[in-house]
Amino acid sequence: MVHEVTLIPGDGTGPSICEVAKKVIAATGVQIKWDQVEAGVDVMKKTGTPLPDNVLASCRRTKVALKGPITTPIGTGFRSVNVTLRKELDLYACVRPCRTYQGVLSRYEKIDLLIVRENVEDLYAGVEWPAGSEEAKKIIAMAKGKINPEAAISIKPISRFNSERILRMAFDLAVKHKRRKVTAVTKANIMKCTDGLFFEVAREVAKRYPAIEYEERLIDNMCMQLVQKPELYDVICLPNLYGDILSDLCAGLIGGLGIAPGANIGDHGALFEAVHGSAPKYTGQNKVNPTAILLSAELMLNHLGETDVARRLDRAVAEVIREGKTVTYDLGGKAGTREMGDAIIEKLTRDEGRGTRDKLEAKQ
Ligand code: NAD
Repeated sequence: MVHEVTLIPGDGTGPSICEVAKKVIAATGVQIKWDQVEAGVDVMKKTGTPLPDNVLASCRRTKVALKGPITTPIGTGFRSVNVTLRKELDLYACVRPCRTYQGVLSRYEKIDLLIVRENVEDLYAGVEWPAGSEEAKKIIAMAKGKINPEAAISIKPISRFNSERILRMAFDLAVKHKRRKVTAVTKANIMKCTDGLFFEVAREVAKRYPAIEYEERLIDNMCMQLVQKPELYDVICLPNLYGDILSDLCAGLIGGLGIAPGANIGDHGALFEAVHGSAPKYTGQNKVNPTAILLSAELMLNHLGETDVARRLDRAVAEVIREGKTVTYDLGGKAGTREMGDAIIEKLTRDEGRGTRDKLEAKQ
């Protein structure tokens, strides 16, 4: 079967890791027809927009995309393309497995967490007003002295609808992957209405899954707990901003952003991308680790039903990391992005040879 998949190489180091991903995926033998479309700062210079219409159109048509990271200007400039894609395609669940691979440089062993981050609301709704604007002034007046009159304002919407579907996703994934516990995380002691609603919905959803343990943590305590005793946790479900921050913390636990994959999932499509950003300082240097995008591609292969291929890819990546001979700088090696990709391809090819030999021997 041929799968049609949108490929968005992104900018910065994105195109180089996506090139490796394409090559490695081709080596698995799975049939993918790529619809390659451009988004990000480079296309902005050419077309005046960082997200041309054909990108969304392709994602809507194929319903599956693999994406490299895209730079977002800080403070000013265009709105995040990543956030817009998730919102426009209603990819409401950001699912990020965090697992240690033997051979990585990490103080922790045997970490196996699943982060399930709400992806379309919270402070990422992009509803904010500059200091001194009419809108900011109106809200400050409504707050009756609680806000400094010169403040800029950002709105944090948390709805029952979006909280419920992300929590259901967390519990469904716990059941599907035979996990024991879901921990909901907020700062509901301070944000009683918004984060309080998230916990309220979490308790209701938890009642529908009696076989899965449920608990709550405050985000500050959760950060410390994860650094001190990550083995206590399993599936972690959070609103958008906390989920973003905790994802990088958990990437740190398993050896860094170079090996942390992710999936953005909705009811009508899915987009797979690494947790890391465009790492612009390494653009064009053949330096960054391709593992995170490859493990994101593994999640995509599972989503496409190519579970055997996904398993083989995982084995090949794990073997290269374990051997530590052809790995990138972040894993203590000297290999470049392309060389690490080629080492993974070599393992895949050998694995395939071994598989064919095993089948032939079984027949004899
Ligand atoms: P970043 O994730 O790009 O990089 C932070 C640091 O992590 C890098 O300097 C590097 O040391 C390390 N790193 C990242 N990816 C790596 C890899 N594959 N291999 C080895 N080391 C790696 O974060 P940043 O510098 O804060 O962000 C850069 C840009 O990326 C920003 O414009 C940001 O908005 C954007 N961003 C995009 C996405 C996305 O496209 N989904 C996600 C996060 C950040």
